[in-house]
Amino acid sequence: MRLVIALGGNALLRRGQLLSAAAQQHNVNVAARVLADIAAEGHQLIITHGNGPQVGLLALQSASGPAESALPFDVLDAESEGWIGYAIELALRNALPRGTEIVTLLTQTFVDPTDPAFKMPVKPVGPLYDEATAKQMASNHHWSIAPDGSFWRRVVASPKALGIVEIASIRRLADAGAIVICAGGGGIPVCVGPDGKLTGVEAVIDKDATSALLATQIEADMFIMLTDVAGVYLDFGTDRARMIARANPLALNAQTTAFKAGSMGPKVQAACDFVNNSGHVAGIGELADAISIIRQKSGTIVAADQPHISYTRKNHLA
Ligand code: ADP
Ligand code: MG
Repeated sequence: MRLVIALGGNALLRRGQLLSAAAQQHNVNVAARVLADIAAEGHQLIITHGNGPQVGLLALQSASGPAESALPFDVLDAESEGWIGYAIELALRNALPRGTEIVTLLTQTFVDPTDPAFKMPVKPVGPLYDEATAKQMASNHHWSIAPDGSFWRRVVASPKALGIVEIASIRRLADAGAIVICAGGGGIPVCVGPDGKLTGVEAVIDKDATSALLATQIEADMFIMLTDVAGVYLDFGTDRARMIARANPLALNAQTTAFKAGSMGPKVQAACDFVNNSGHVAGIGELADAISIIRQKSGTIVAADQPHISYTRKNHLA
C-alpha cells in the first residue's frame, strides 16, 4: 500500500522532555526502525512530521538576538523542516537497506491571508511553562498563550492548508519509488498575491491537515497519524474516558467538542477529510502500534463503512 504517515508525539520529542538535537535524534531513530519494519512489509512510505516544539525553540533563539534579525515564522518553519527532515532522513538511511532512495523535500503550503484563524491563535509551539512564567513571557514577547494539559504554551495562528506547492514533485518522487519526507510542520505557509507571486506568511500550519491533503492528492491507500496516545478517546481525561476503535466520519463529526483544538481536534478532522475525499481508511494511534494500525487492529480507525462508533474492549484510561 501507499501510506502517508504523519509523525508527531513521541516520534520526535516526548511531552515535557527538554528539546536537544541528541534527544530528538534518539526518538527519531526509534521511529525510523518502526518505519523500516513497515517498508519491509512492502509498503511505500511518504512521511510527514510535526514541528511545534522545534519551531517554538527556533523562535525563542531567534528572538534572543537583535530585534531586526529576528526571523519571521515562515523562515523558522523552513528551518524546522530542514532540521527535522535531516534527522528523519539520517535515521531512515541507518535503518533501511543501503541504496534505498530517500528524499527530504522542503514543502510550501498555500493558505488564505484572510483566514479567520489569523485572529485566533490555537496552535501550541515551543516549550511548556508554568502559568506564571508563561504570562511573563507573553507580556515580554507579545505572545498569545494557552493551557496545554497542566502547563501553558505559546500559541500561534494556524490557517487552513489549501494546497501543496510541490505536490507534483512529491507525486513524481513517490511514483519513482522514493521514500519522501515532506510537508514537515504542515509546510511553510505561503499566499499568492494579486500579482500571482508567492509570499511567506507568519503562521504554523497543522501538520495533520496538510498531511490529509497530501494523502488525498497523492492517492494514498491509507493515512496514519502516529502520536503519544493509543487512539482517540471520548471524555478524554475523565474517568469515563473510552477509546474509539472504529468510527465513520459522520459519527465523529457529531462529537466535535470532544476533541481539543490544536491537538486531537485537527487529527480527527484530518482523518475524516481523508476518508471523505478518498474513500480509504485513516488511523490514529501510537508509534509502537503502527504495524497493527495498518492492519486496522489497533488505534482508532476511521472508515466510511463503519456503521456506528465501536470502542476498544480493553479500555485503558487516558
Ligand atoms: P502530535 O505531536 O502527535 O500532533 P498533539 O499534542 O497535537 O500531538 O495531539 C495528541 C494529544 O492530544 C494527546 O497527547 C492528548 O493529550 C491530546 N488529546 C486531546 N483530546 C484528546 C482525545 N479526545 N483523545 C485522545 N487524545 C486527546
Ligand atoms: Mg499536533
